[in-house]
Amino acid sequence: MNEHDSERMTGVLRDRGCVPVSGAADADMVILNTCSIREKAEQKFYSELGRLKQLKMERPGMKIAVAGCIAQQEGKDILARAPYVDIVFGPSDVSRLPLMVESAFSQRSPVVDTSGDPEYHRRRIPTVRADKVKAWVSIMYGCDNFCTYCVVPYLRGRERSRPPKDIVDEVRELARQGYREVSLLGQNVNSYGKGLGEEDTDFAALLGMVNGVPDLERIRFVTSHPRDLSDSLIYAVRDLPKVCESLHLPVQSGSDDILRLMNRKYTRADYLEKVRMLRDAVPEITLTTDIIVGFPEEKAQDFEATMQLLEVVRFDGIFAFKYSKRPGTAALKLRGHLPEDIKEERLMKVLALQRDITIQKNKAYVGRHMDVLIDGKSKKGGKLSGRTRGNKVVNVAGPDSLIGSLVTARVTAAGVNSLSGEICE
Ligand code: SAH
Ligand code: SF4
Repeated sequence: MNEHDSERMTGVLRDRGCVPVSGAADADMVILNTCSIREKAEQKFYSELGRLKQLKMERPGMKIAVAGCIAQQEGKDILARAPYVDIVFGPSDVSRLPLMVESAFSQRSPVVDTSGDPEYHRRRIPTVRADKVKAWVSIMYGCDNFCTYCVVPYLRGRERSRPPKDIVDEVRELARQGYREVSLLGQNVNSYGKGLGEEDTDFAALLGMVNGVPDLERIRFVTSHPRDLSDSLIYAVRDLPKVCESLHLPVQSGSDDILRLMNRKYTRADYLEKVRMLRDAVPEITLTTDIIVGFPEEKAQDFEATMQLLEVVRFDGIFAFKYSKRPGTAALKLRGHLPEDIKEERLMKVLALQRDITIQKNKAYVGRHMDVLIDGKSKKGGKLSGRTRGNKVVNVAGPDSLIGSLVTARVTAAGVNSLSGEICE
């Protein structure tokens, strides 16, 4: 989501004549787009800001802007800690960025605007995209769920859905420009459509509309909340040819007690039932999830329930995090916060277990023929890299002219992060 917000910042500034340069040393202005989901992201931001301060001492004319969720959270307090910052703006203030930049260059005082644009979800924001094959498309902003560990509802505000026509127009334009894949973005895409009024629709219906866009190859979406995963969405994944058979469905914990303390509003049994329904309807589907370990009051048996859930579901991959205290969230007030070493130990255990499962699942693809959309070069080895419909990375040898093409590849080997293959046609 932040990467896409950065693409929008680049878009609104390019429309005012700004051009990107290769690094901070050559820039008249640097924007740090920040994340506040865990404490570690905040620490990274402050150390990066310290580096920019050094640069600014050498070149006092350079402007520094702070964007994103830390900007929203701290507002003008950032200036107390870092008086050399020139602009502070929040995630829904991007369309006003050019005005802020003009003020910052024309006056000496810093500009702070985290008031949020109530119509942001209805605006068309110019976008300069980092990728030529795959594009992010925002479909909604904010979140109403208030999971007790999470700052998002406080910083990104209440859930607002973009009108379906605006979304379909954007996707149509992307397909016309040659993009082959879109990823629809929202904190909770399964509840898309609430409050749209006349244009009332739901997420499955939106997928149907996007599926109708000509020349587009693939549709993905993040993130699905398990509670709101409806039958109609399962049928959409089964029946709509462009919607990929791959779902990120964050479970967070395998223990009902912890799920209740997290305010996730589903039980372990509910979650397992949704997984069963998904796999019954779409046997090829790949599943990934998010796990938080060391949530307050997580006992050894709660953690075991999470480990056991991983063994039962056998996800294709997980993102696992140590619980991190976030300002203003309800979980802060729970008793029984766990020491760092227990959180660390549990994190290592889930990652080790999942690593084995991921390798076994990946090995099952060896010898199979897969449709791979080539989207760039592999990180090492100078090969081409692409993804299957199930979102598995496949590296193959081939000419750069294939970037953007769909090929059939035979999988020859499998590791934990990617598969290797050979192009068959
Ligand atoms: N809206 C999405 C995810 C948003 S944040 C959803 O509900 O699934 C991405 C992931 O970060 C979450 O799924 C959660 O696993 C993790 N996360 C959020 N807040 C956290 C915190 N305080 N500590 C540790 N992990 C956290
Ligand atoms: Fe945070 Fe929960 Fe909303 Fe996801 S659904 S953004 S975890 S509050």
